[in-house]
Amino acid sequence: MKKDIHPNYRPARVTCACGNAFVTRATVPEIRVEICSNCHPFFTGRQKLVDTERRVERFQQRYERFRQHEQARQEKSGKAK
Ligand SMILES: [Zn+2]
Repeated sequence: MKKDIHPNYRPARVTCACGNAFVTRATVPEIRVEICSNCHPFFTGRQKLVDTERRVERFQQRYERFRQHEQARQEKSGKAK
């Protein structure tokens, strides 16, 4: 290997948000991840929403507002029919 051009490839501890941790090798000593092979739906076989940015939750909130609005609108026009 050529000298002084390669990064330091050392053991690195990977820590997942689910609590799982394992050691691999990398150029940084510590890696934090949100999902790993221990908790990803592909490996667990369970259906689970991976909603790290709360996009699903935000959509549900928005949809709930729309639904209430729509319901109020139908009650208004529905009684007239
Ligand atoms: Zn995990």
